[in-house]
Order: sequence, then C-alpha cells, then structure tokens
Amino acid sequence: MHSLPFTAEPSPALQFDVIIAGCGPTGAMLAAELRLHDVRVLVLEKETEPASFVRIVGLHIRSIELMAMRGLLERILERGRRRPAGGFFAAINKPAPEGLDSAYAYLLGIPQPVIVHLLEQHATELGAQVRRGAAVAGFEQDDDGVTVELADGERLRSRYLVGCDGGRSTVRKLLGVGFPGEPSRTETLMGEVNLAAPQEEVTAKVTEIREKEPRVSLTPAGVGVYRVVLPAAGVSDRTEPPTLDDFQQQLRAIAGTDFGMHSPRWLSRFGDATRLAERYRVGRVLLAGDAAHIHPPIGGQGLNLGVQDAFNLGWKLAAQVRGWAPETLLDTYQAERRPVAEDVLDNTRAQMELLSDGPGPRAVRRLLTELMDFDEVNRHLIEKITAIDIRYDFGAGPDLLGRRLRDVDVKQGHLYGLLHRGRGLLLDRTERLTVGGWSDRVDHLADPTAVLEVPCVLLRPDGHVAWIGDDQQDLDDHLARWFGESAN
Ligand SMILES: Cc1cc2nc3c(=O)[nH]c(=O)nc-3n(C[C@H](O)[C@H](O)[C@H](O)COP(=O)(O)OP(=O)(O)OC[C@H]3O[C@@H](n4cnc5c(N)ncnc54)[C@H](O)[C@@H]3O)c2cc1C
Repeated sequence: MHSLPFTAEPSPALQFDVIIAGCGPTGAMLAAELRLHDVRVLVLEKETEPASFVRIVGLHIRSIELMAMRGLLERILERGRRRPAGGFFAAINKPAPEGLDSAYAYLLGIPQPVIVHLLEQHATELGAQVRRGAAVAGFEQDDDGVTVELADGERLRSRYLVGCDGGRSTVRKLLGVGFPGEPSRTETLMGEVNLAAPQEEVTAKVTEIREKEPRVSLTPAGVGVYRVVLPAAGVSDRTEPPTLDDFQQQLRAIAGTDFGMHSPRWLSRFGDATRLAERYRVGRVLLAGDAAHIHPPIGGQGLNLGVQDAFNLGWKLAAQVRGWAPETLLDTYQAERRPVAEDVLDNTRAQMELLSDGPGPRAVRRLLTELMDFDEVNRHLIEKITAIDIRYDFGAGPDLLGRRLRDVDVKQGHLYGLLHRGRGLLLDRTERLTVGGWSDRVDHLADPTAVLEVPCVLLRPDGHVAWIGDDQQDLDDHLARWFGESAN
C-alpha cells in the first residue's frame, strides 16, 4: 500500500462524484444516502464475496428509526427479531424503563451480513455501483478531486473519497491521520454452537458462574443453539482463528463442563482496542465508521455508530457535490460525530471495567446494578447506548434543538414516512410559513394536527431539529444556514 507518487501523467477525467472504500454497513448506508441526491457513487470493496461473519446483537433504537426514515424498516423487520430494549449496559440484566421516547422502542436482533446485504441492495436499487474484488491501495488529492489507485494499478477519479474501510483502514493510514487510544488488553471468544445439555441445566450453571465471571454468557439462539461468549485468556495463538476445541477447553476450565458442545455455526475472537481518529476529514477525503473509531463490542454499538455517521455525512456531502452546501456544512460532520464517538468509546471503557475480574470491579458492578433500579439511571444508560440521547450543538435554544425528533403522527400518516427522499422538512402547525426558494431541497407540511409541543420545526434530512419557532424571517435565516442560498 502506498500514497500515489507525484506523476506528470494527466489524471483521468472525473468519473464519479464520490468513491467509497469499503462496502460494510457504513459504506453501503453512505452510498444509498448519496444516491438519494443523484450523486454518482462507486463503492470499492476489496473482498470478492460479502462477509458471512455474524457479529452483532442488533440494531438499536436510533438505527431502527433511520431505517424507518428511509422506508427500509419493513424489509428489515422481515429478516430480524424484535427483542425488548434493555440489558445492554455491561450486560446488567435490567428491563428498559417504560415510555422510552421513540415509536420504535425495541432491539432488532438481525445478523450483520443480513443488514449489509439489505443496505447494499438498497444502495444499488437507488443506482450506486458496487465493485467487489477492488481494493483501494493509494490515492492523491488535488484542488479538483481525488485520484484513487486500486491494488491492480487501475486509476479512478472522483471529487471526494470516503474511507469506510474498517478499523485497519488503508485510507486513514494513507491520509496520515493519527489513531490514538489504547491497544487491546483483553481478548474474548464469541461464537454460535450447539449444546447437547438441556437448557435448564445450561441456564442454572451459567447464572452461578456469572456471579464471579460476568464476561461469560451462553444465550439461546435457536433450538439447541447458543451464542457463547467466553474470556479468551490463555487460548492459543491470537493470529490463528479460534477452534471448537478452544471453546470446549475454555468452557470446561470455567464451568467444569462443555455442555456437549458441537457443530459450531461460526467462531470468532475479538479484542478491546479503543481508538479514535484525530480528524474525520482532510480536504476531499473523509473517514466514517470503524475507519474513524474502534472500541470493544460490548453494548453492540459499533455498527450502529457507523451507520449513523453515514446518515449524518450523506446529505452534507451530497449538498457539497450538488453545489448548494453552505461553506461550513461539510465540517459539521466531524464537529457533530466525533464527540458522539468519543462518548461511545468512553461508555465501552466503563463497561469493560464493570465486566473485569476482581473484588473492586465486582463491587462497583453490584452498586451500579442497584442504582439501575432508579428509573432515571436506567433511562440515562439506555438512551446513551441506543443513541436517542444525542443532541448536536446548534447553539442556544430549547432542549429539542439539535436533537432528533421522534416519529409522530401527522395528517398524512406518520412523520418518518415523509422523510424517505432524504430532504429537509418544515413541519408547520401554524399553516402560515413557507420554505420559499428552498422548496427544491426542503419539503413543507402544514398540519395543525401534528403531535408537536412547539409551533413549527425545521428538520434536517437526518431528522435532527435545526430550528424551532413561528417567525418567517428567523426561519429563512435558518434555511440559509443549513440549506444554502435561496433559489429566488
Ligand atoms: C465480535 C463482534 C461483535 C460485534 N457486535 C456488534 C453489535 O452487536 N452491534 C454493533 O453495532 N456492532 C457490533 N460490532 C461492531 C461492528 O461489527 C462494526 O462496528 C461494523 O462492522 C463497522 O462497520 P464498517 O462498515 O465501518 O466497517 P467494516 O464492517 O469493517 O467494513 C469495512 C469494509 O471495507 C472493506 N475494506 C477494507 N479495506 C479495504 C480497501 N483497502 N479497499 C476496499 N475495501 C476495503 C472490508 O472488506 C469491509 O467489507 C461487533 C464487532 C465484533 C468484532
């Protein structure tokens, strides 16, 4: 891998507006978001076949909301299983508090390869090109665009390049962006296997073990099938994939039995390295998803965070390409999303401490378990993990400003049903405002019956509240701030 050397050869003409490196969940989501605005997108994916590795607990509330906002929820619900929201934080088993502020207050259990498949399908249906077996190996940017070099030497040219190429991101490394944080200290085995022992026996033993070793879990995932999580300490060589024998031995050492473990569906091993990119953008090259942040999978947040990065970036990059972006819009991507990732990194650090061995961490875990009986504590932690607590800094204003608006009933059905095209929306209970010269970018719904505690809200394409009020001039100022110059 190398940065392109300076060359006297002319660069190929701009073939694409945006090249995305990596067709994981982040890259596929970003491609679809860009296509909503007719941006010419090419996704380059180094693997020839989609990954079959099943990680993931599922989609949390905010990601489910994004799917509803783009009309994808039905497809996703067909392939996933609704589970109660709760029991995520450090695997402390508390049900979610009543009345979470969302129309989609559940966890959607769905394997990562299925999500990637559905998002990629959505992106290609919208017109994105995906090329497999095409690894980005180098690039060089200039005033007009980026020349991307593939591993086989082919060169492609686009206006922007986005590295969605995972934790070992080539794009990030070639950009020279620092990735400070902590290396992996604790390794964990995770897989899906069959167990011959009766479920009651497994459950009783695991409940007893978890008193001392909270990092052990054996969760039913089908008839006789269990999702197994075990500490990996002492298990063979890290560079080799784990084997069934590793899992059996480790479980025997901890539980005194392997419950007749056999027929693995998949086996994996992961560490708890925690790192955050110093910058998300250098000129025409941006980073999103695991390329920008890695952390232990506890709480099941990585995929959700990456998909939400893509949702934040998509419309801004599209605005830049289409030529209507206000000058600072693209930079709000880093300003908004990097602090969110910082917070996720911190909560995973805290969860790993709570799951670690020793009398101190066990005592803190017991104390937190008690504290989570207080509704506000439980609610705070769930809202954090499910990302419905996010409030971007849009300046002083009511609490709702900068937050996402939950799906609410409107006269045409429900609000999220009006956001499928990825445009802004003025939801107007006064019926006397207008989006005037921004109507090519922003829709207007005048609806005095909308279930809203304020007169009007202006929503960005990602569903965050960009303005609250009832004054036309103030609205025009905010339309210009987020959507550029009026066409009139
Ligand atoms: C055991 C485990 C369990 C997890 N559980 C959960 C969970 O329950 N919930 C959750 O939200 N997250 C979970 N995660 C995290 C989640 O899997 C990642 O955060 C997510 O995959 C990140 O998506 P991404 O698209 O940013 O990166 P990736 O999924 O890593 O995708 C990057 C893509 O880029 C491709 N690529 C790499 N280099 C190049 C190149 N040079 N050129 C072109 N393509 C390239 C790769 O082949 C890959 O397809 C888990 C992770 C692990 C390890």
